Amino acid sequence: MSSSSEIAVLLREAYGLQGELTALGGENDNYRVDVAGGRRFVLKVAANEITTELVEAEALAVETLHTARLGLALPRVVPTREGASSCQLESPGESPRRVRLIEFVDGECLGDAGEPTTELAHEFGRALARIDGALATADDPAIHRTHRWDLARAGQHRARIALVPDAGRRELLERAFHLHAASAAPRLAELPHSWIHGDANDENVLVHGGRVSGLLDFGDTLYNPTVCELAIALAYALFGSSSPLELGAEIVAGYHGKRPLSLPELEVLFPLVCGRLAVTVTVCAERRCIDPGHPSWFVSEARALALLERLMTFDPVEAGRRLAARTQLDPFPPTGAPLEALIEKRDRHISRALSLAYDEPLKIVRGRGQYLFDDRGRPFLDMVNNVCHVGHCHPRVVEAGQAQMARLNTNTRYVYDGLTDYAERLCATLPDGLETCFFVNSGSEANELALRLAMTHTQHRDFLVVDGAYHGHTAGLIAISPYKFMGSGGAGRSEPWVHVVPIADGYRGAHKGQGLDAGHAYADEVGRVIAAAEGPIAGFISESVLSCGGQVVPPEGYFERAYQYVREAGGLCIADEVQVGFGRVGTHFWAFERQDIVPDIVVMGKPIGNGHPMAAVVTTAEVAGSFANGMEFFATFGGNPVSCAIGLAVLDVIEDEGLQQRALELGRRLREGLTALMPVHPIIGEVRGAGLFVGVELVRDRQTLEPAAAEAEVLVQRMKARGVLLSTDGPLHNVIKIKPPMVLSADDVDMTVRLFADELRAMQDQGDPA
Ligand code: PMP
Repeated sequence: MSSSSEIAVLLREAYGLQGELTALGGENDNYRVDVAGGRRFVLKVAANEITTELVEAEALAVETLHTARLGLALPRVVPTREGASSCQLESPGESPRRVRLIEFVDGECLGDAGEPTTELAHEFGRALARIDGALATADDPAIHRTHRWDLARAGQHRARIALVPDAGRRELLERAFHLHAASAAPRLAELPHSWIHGDANDENVLVHGGRVSGLLDFGDTLYNPTVCELAIALAYALFGSSSPLELGAEIVAGYHGKRPLSLPELEVLFPLVCGRLAVTVTVCAERRCIDPGHPSWFVSEARALALLERLMTFDPVEAGRRLAARTQLDPFPPTGAPLEALIEKRDRHISRALSLAYDEPLKIVRGRGQYLFDDRGRPFLDMVNNVCHVGHCHPRVVEAGQAQMARLNTNTRYVYDGLTDYAERLCATLPDGLETCFFVNSGSEANELALRLAMTHTQHRDFLVVDGAYHGHTAGLIAISPYKFMGSGGAGRSEPWVHVVPIADGYRGAHKGQGLDAGHAYADEVGRVIAAAEGPIAGFISESVLSCGGQVVPPEGYFERAYQYVREAGGLCIADEVQVGFGRVGTHFWAFERQDIVPDIVVMGKPIGNGHPMAAVVTTAEVAGSFANGMEFFATFGGNPVSCAIGLAVLDVIEDEGLQQRALELGRRLREGLTALMPVHPIIGEVRGAGLFVGVELVRDRQTLEPAAAEAEVLVQRMKARGVLLSTDGPLHNVIKIKPPMVLSADDVDMTVRLFADELRAMQDQGDPA
């Protein structure tokens, strides 16, 4: 606060005015100035970061609206005696502050006028649209800025949710910020932008005689998605309303009548409103740490919280539809039959061998980036789908597929650019020598072919597989997948030519805790199994980082030595990169490169087409040469022009968006965040992984390593209820697997870690699932 004598001097010297000063409430250091003759002004004292340029931009906004003759009382800037829009207040020992004098605008503010009538609500919306219409005609470099109330960047406050002491309140805020991040933020860039007032709150909007009569405080004005104006206004106008969505619908309708809203604008409106309310509550929590007794900082807090609580009881689709009800537009496409009806039909027509994820299954209707949306509009952060590697429905991938599909789709018996372009690009990512490609449609098909390649080349049959591994669903692959033949419904190893080697697991297993020696010790197990097999072997197939085996990163030195044993026994080495390839491990494009080895055959699937069914096998000219023994190879769909176009687009996006580097950075952030929970959560036995391929192993006892499988399952269900999709894996079902689309953000990572902490704490408190 400034001393009134200093201000009186400044008022006299800079403005030639003398009057009575009264401190005004509100967020800022503002004074009412009553001068002789009844004229009144507001003197605003602000930190000097409010630049002259900004002050002049605010003045331009006011003048623009004034010129537009909207019939609104507006706080026009009073120039200093020298004609400047502001001046500086210099107090000894303090940094200078910027002072502005504006005309006092009298009137009743919206917040004091009681719940708005339908007419006033409509009028208010209309007035806002007229304001936006007028402001859209102006521009100024100073308004291309951001600040703490910038609704497009509401996510900047998320980390401070931790300052809120109440767990229920934190949950509410997490949900609101997540809704904003998933459903609004990614859409904003494509929406119309313009100069907005940016703070049409219940104190800044004046009403008189059932009409909006004035608008105050241009201090938050900025260039923004225009719809943020309406969202901010709604976040205050609906305070205390008994039917906020209906009242909101009137405001929206009034606005829409004057400045028609597009469907995407209507779609993001509800998430934006919730985002703004969440910011208000979070900023208050932060301010409480600074000055809990501040007279004006918390005026909106309780009402914002109550409104947010109320709004978050609605599903986003329902709320969005209700807000748009009076525009005659429906921002959400139909979502089809209800979940229960579909499950019933599914039970009739789809094999029960195919289970549904989660106790309460989800009907997913839309995907975008790292997010999935259910039929109720609830967003889910997809932390488990490594197929949609570059993000669900990536526009470049979609566009590439659509364009090629509209031009030509044929098969690999014809010559076309796409096939060879793609083969060349793919081989360029691999070590020299891996240069012959086979294109197929699924990981299973690719692994099946890899086995045939190895068997044909070596003229042997016996195969080494890693315990707990899954390589595909065909008869041949089930026979080499201990995950299946040793798992539920499995009948054990059926084929004498299949030899199982132990999981090279540094956390549990025979050579745990042996540090650098563990890799060699586990590789020696491979040697022992080969020796026991007593015959020549065709090959060794292993994922480069184990997925179904429990998100296990084989210890250093393992593969080099294991490959040596295999090759000495006449076998080929197959790297199954179906889960872990294409930059996911961060340090390298292929996970096998982490251990500086070169396989004879590399198998690729899942992320290769970002969801489009395609897969590939790449091998050496020599192995491919043995395979070309007269028997034709042809896969009807494999390598078709559409698949090649999609595959190329995926490679382009990985490169252009720097996704391998992102996997490295965010993977580290995630592992560090989760590791930091270990001291308070003994249930976390180990956090491991490479890049964005992460496993969290839960144990009941860190000494005995008793697996906490039930707890892992509960945690997965609880995280899903909070909007984060995860699943469990590993032979003991106690590893939480994390392998998200690589377009994840740091905010998503941080939210996941916070929710992990929240849910583990709640489980501990509730003794769940004791
Ligand atoms: N290999 C690995 C490592 C896998 O995880 C999978 C599928 N989960 C496959 C192969 C089989 O791929 P698809 O389901 O595309 O046939």
